[in-house]
Amino acid sequence: MKLYVLDGGTIEILDWSLFQPDAGKGVRRTLADSCYLVVHPRGTLVWDTGLSDALAEEPDGHRVGDIAVFRVDDSLERQLSRAGCPADTVDFLALSHFHPDHVGNTALFPGATLFVQRDEYAAAFGTSPGDHGFDPGNYAHLREQPVHTLDGDHDVFGDGSVVILRLPGHTPGSQSLLVRLPDTGPVLISGDLVHSLENWARRVVPALNADADESLRSMDRAADVLAEEGAVLWVQHDHAQQSALRRLPHHYT
Ligand SMILES: [Zn+2]
Repeated sequence: MKLYVLDGGTIEILDWSLFQPDAGKGVRRTLADSCYLVVHPRGTLVWDTGLSDALAEEPDGHRVGDIAVFRVDDSLERQLSRAGCPADTVDFLALSHFHPDHVGNTALFPGATLFVQRDEYAAAFGTSPGDHGFDPGNYAHLREQPVHTLDGDHDVFGDGSVVILRLPGHTPGSQSLLVRLPDTGPVLISGDLVHSLENWARRVVPALNADADESLRSMDRAADVLAEEGAVLWVQHDHAQQSALRRLPHHYT
């Protein structure tokens, strides 16, 4: 089994105090937006799809109101090809949640089966997706492809090596991904359980969040999993941590 770390763009937050309340007002902070590819003997899985590859055409970035500037340097499509796994061959797609910075390239995977929590899917395709910060323009096509709806955790390949964990709170059906790598050891990929390692250490509930109490319960459960597994938490948006990980053509085994 191989785990590749992919670059889904960067997000410059224009006021980090929105995400970390005791940060100074107007302090800027750059977030990573990592995605991941698992190559397993029984199939391939992409976890999250980052910001849209189309943003690579905007060299000065794409400003989103007073909140953030989105940038994409290297398209996800090209990265997957370089990893030897072109997007249209990917077997399974799993999304931590449906916020725009995680679903930007879902259209690249028309043949993949989607793993999603039942309540996340209902919110994404319900009557008021905007109430959850979702924009169906990013993912409406997913309705046309095979979906495996979940009501809890899911062992993707049936051997315990790759397990989707239901950790709701940030959105109704947010998920994280536990990957038990034989050489590297177990890694828990965060989704937006938190947006930085400092916020994890202090159990800061994420910004733009659906249910704070549920988020805190999910953080407690993630802490239990990390302790039981001896796993490392990879925070997808933590720029310092994600930048230090091995990138293509390197991978983790
Ligand atoms: Zn995010």
